[in-house]
Formats: sequence, structure tokens, C-alpha cells
Amino acid sequence: MSNETLFAEALTHFPGGVSSPVRAFRAVGGTPKFFKRAWGWQFEDEDGRTFLDLCMSWGPLILGHANPDILAAVTEAMAEGLTFGAPSRRELALARRIKAMVPFMEKMRLVSSGTEAVMSALRAARGFTGRDRILKFDGCYHGHADAMLVKAGSGLVTFGEPSSAGIPKAVGELTSVLSLDDLEGLEAYFAKHGGETACAIIEPVPANNGLLPQQLEFLTALRTLCTKHGALLIFDEVISGFRVAPGGAAELYDITPDLVTYGKIIGGGMPVGCYGGRKDVMGVVSPDGPVYQAGTLSGNPVAMAAGLATLERLTPAFYADLNHRAALWAKVFERIPGLHCPHIGSLLWPLFQAGVKRADRVEAGAITQFNHLHRLMLEQGVYLAPSGYEVAFLSGVHGDEALACFEAAVAAVAPQFRSDGAP
Ligand SMILES: *Cc1c(COP(=O)(O)O)cnc(C)c1O
Repeated sequence: MSNETLFAEALTHFPGGVSSPVRAFRAVGGTPKFFKRAWGWQFEDEDGRTFLDLCMSWGPLILGHANPDILAAVTEAMAEGLTFGAPSRRELALARRIKAMVPFMEKMRLVSSGTEAVMSALRAARGFTGRDRILKFDGCYHGHADAMLVKAGSGLVTFGEPSSAGIPKAVGELTSVLSLDDLEGLEAYFAKHGGETACAIIEPVPANNGLLPQQLEFLTALRTLCTKHGALLIFDEVISGFRVAPGGAAELYDITPDLVTYGKIIGGGMPVGCYGGRKDVMGVVSPDGPVYQAGTLSGNPVAMAAGLATLERLTPAFYADLNHRAALWAKVFERIPGLHCPHIGSLLWPLFQAGVKRADRVEAGAITQFNHLHRLMLEQGVYLAPSGYEVAFLSGVHGDEALACFEAAVAAVAPQFRSDGAP
């Protein structure tokens, strides 16, 4: 069956025809590609066309699609049972590996998604500090827990309002939202509300509103202010964890958060999340402490096997090679007139605008241009995430052959853009 036929049926089953909203292609237009099978850096859709994948399931696949080593580990685990609802040795193996890569990880809890990791970390922070207020930053995405679907309030109000229907106003008011890259705003907030703040949560490498690289001084100031006011610092490393360095952004910037959240890569393509950090803070989590949090499929043995097989292959040499190649891909992207491609590690953001560090600075025109680029690249067989606010993910299998394929697509598309970036 074709993509069209399948999508027509999907629309009768699911809101927007999808199981997660961006997949609906609403931003870029057209029919979503139904993936039939995927291997390495490629996938085939239901129309039988093959694509070079630069979305890579939004981050988990740092070793590429259907990596044979991960498949073997998963197959072995599956044969011993799909779920136990009881402790099993594979959880320990994954925890050991995480601790080897993340030196500040003293205690952790395994969960099944990034959203769950964040939601649980926030509850632990509130339980530990006895405070209710949470600070987040505009342009950072932390999954869809109520407290995180909040935008900045109007004017000078420091209390947020829900950015989604279905969330009580009272919940929004307990989340404050500040701008990234605004040191003065940060200092003013802590002077006024530091004492009532349970935690600040940030993507240290913001990668969900494009890529918004932060200055080290900003992140350092956040660490200092949290400590000074008794608020916990949570690094949401669901994307950057095990991606930008073995120890994630915490290692890259040499800043230690109190708690960290992981997802995506940690499950190697299976549903795994994790939150943890300081053992005194994690001491509040049930059954050791009064903060309740649980999960039927938490620590699932098959998911553990996929995560472990992935993390075991992530060595410093792997990152050095991947990051080096990512810089080459960014240069190739920039052969398109007007396009800029900032990158951190193997995260790349193709945009027709330069130097963006704050979510509110992304120009509408740059996004329109991206949508045009998306369609043209798709015609050339290159699959970018279907929104200009999403980054591209490179994997360890995006080697010379993939690069040659990408260069050909860029060469075909580039003449359609003028030097000012207009199509
Ligand atoms: C993807 C993501 C989440 C949510 O993870 P899910 O597994 O989709 O629930 C949270 N935080 C960040 C930074 C993410 O990129």
C-alpha cells in the first residue's frame, strides 16, 4: 500500500493520523512517509523509495538503524522473556555503564520515556526541597508533563501560563519561564524568587527549537545561582546525553547538575528513560522516601539490552570521529546559498538565519525557507525532520557513501536558492 492510502486510513484512527504530532508533516506540507524498513543511514517508505535519513527517529539511533550488535543483544534478551515486573541483572549492567560514562551519577531510577524522566525528576526536586516553583527556559522542550507545557506570562509577570489546553491555570502559575541567553533576567528572577524555587530545568544544549548554543557564562551563572538559593539544577539531557560527549553536556561544559534526565540514546531505539544524580536527592524517591514514582515496564530487560549494547559502543574515539564528520556535513549544508548550519557534536541545525541563541529570535521567513528546502531535499531523497525547529541528527554510520549522497542532493538543490537565501 502507498503512503497516501495508509495515511488516509491513519486519519480515521488517530488525531492527525499520527501517534505524535510533528510526524503529521503539517509544518512542511505533504503526506508523511510511512517507514517500511530501515537499515544504517537509510530507510525505505511504503512507496518503495529509499531515503537518506537525517532525522534518525529524533535522536536515539546514534549507531544507525537496525544496528546488528543491538539486534543481537535484543534477540538474546527476548528469548529469556519480554518483561518480568521484577529486578533483573540487565538493569545493573546498564546502571554500571551509565555510571562509568557519567561520574556524578550516584543513584538513578530507570523509566520508559524522556517525559517520564523529567516529570519524575521535577517531583523529586519538589519533594527534596519542599518548594513548589519550577524555573524553565523558553525554547527548551522537556516532554509533555503538565508543568512543562507552560509559556512565559504576559508583560513583566514571572509566572507562566499553560501553552496547551487541558492544563489548569494554577499549574502554569507554578512554572516560571525565562529567556535563554539573558543573564540579567536570570539574576533578577533569582533575586526575587530564588528562595521559593525547587529547581531550574534546562536543556544545556537546547535542541528542540532549533539548536540554540548557550554561552558558558550563562550556564555557569545558572549553576551558581541555584546553589546560592538552595534550588536544584536539573539538566535535561534527553537529547544531549550520550550525544555531545560520553558524559553529555555536563562533561562538555564541565558543569555538574544535581539531577539529570536521559532518554532517546539510552534506550538504543527502545523506550527507556532515566533520572538521577545526587544520592541524597534520590533518597526521597519511593520506597526509600516519600516521593512516589513507579512503572510496570520500568527496567524492561529487552530495552535494557538495547540500551547497554548502544552505550558500550560509545567510546571517546567514536565521538571524536562522529563529531569531526558532523562538522563536514554542516559545511556541505552551507553550500546552499543563505543557509547557516550551527552544530554541536552531531546535532546540526540548517536555517536561513545566523547566530540565533534565543527562541524568540527565530524569524518566520527563515522557517518558510526551511519548509521549501525540506520539500526539495525530500525530492532528492534526503529526509530531514519535518519542521524548521528541529535539528538534524548524524549517526556513526553516516560515512563516506552517505556523505556523497548528501553532497549530490545539496548540489541539485542549491541553484534553487539565491545568495540572500530566497528561493
Ligand atoms: C525528546 C525529549 C523529551 C521527551 O522525551 P520522550 O521520550 O519523547 O517523552 C524531553 N526532553 C528533551 C530535551 C527531549 O528532547
